[in-house]
Amino acid sequence: MDMRRKKGILFIVSAPSGAGKSTICAEVMRHDENLRFAVSHTTRDPRTGEQDEGDYHFVSKNVFTRMVDNGEFVEWAEVHGNCYGTSRRMLDTLLGQGRDIIHDIDVQGAAQLRKILPEAVFIFVLPPSVKALAMRLRGRDTDTDEVMAERLANARGEVESYYQYGYVILNDALDHAVEDFRTIIGAERLKAARVDPEGVKEIFSEEESEEDA
Ligand code: ADP
Ligand code: 5GP
Repeated sequence: MDMRRKKGILFIVSAPSGAGKSTICAEVMRHDENLRFAVSHTTRDPRTGEQDEGDYHFVSKNVFTRMVDNGEFVEWAEVHGNCYGTSRRMLDTLLGQGRDIIHDIDVQGAAQLRKILPEAVFIFVLPPSVKALAMRLRGRDTDTDEVMAERLANARGEVESYYQYGYVILNDALDHAVEDFRTIIGAERLKAARVDPEGVKEIFSEEESEEDA
């Protein structure tokens, strides 16, 4: 049995494109039913196999701009030529359910959320080398040469932000990276500051009532 916690934990994960963050997150979620994935809005076209509402809410530029104007995003950013944003409603709904959340966002979005959600856990995923990153982007086979080149060119600048994160995971062997992520999640769940004091009080109230009986 786990200690009751005050509220769900938000795990923010960033990485240069192709480092393997989606793969790691999917693998971690497969073994942990208490985790939910935060679904962002984007103006990017869906890749083969991506589900609307599952991977992203795929929306037009007009819809995205209207949502920005209406203040519907807690953060948003232009990344590799497309817009991505975290809707306030989606985040409030998930956090309200008391679940732990994995949210995959870029370094600009993470910088915005760090200011308003300091209790969130910020994790940066690094590839073992630029060569491996290029191979993974090519191997994923989801992007045109032009898109891959843009993502690779942006990688160096993104990696410079690693020190602003609470944890760094090196995604060399996938199973090690997944294990590292699970270790971080496990440790964060055990933090005293996250424990619900009412849950601690109940431990002793139960003991007393048993003695009384
Ligand atoms: P991201 O979400 O960071 O853009 P993906 O999770 O889509 O990256 O991974 C990019 C590609 O690299 C995918 O084809 C994935 O299967 C592969 N990949 C992920 N992690 C590893 C790893 N540790 N070793 C080799 N290939 C990997
Ligand atoms: P992709 O097109 O490969 O799915 O994602 C491109 C980049 O957009 C990644 O760095 C990913 O983390 C980021 N991203 C995804 N959702 C969001 C979001 O809601 N906000 C921000 N700022 N970035 C996002």
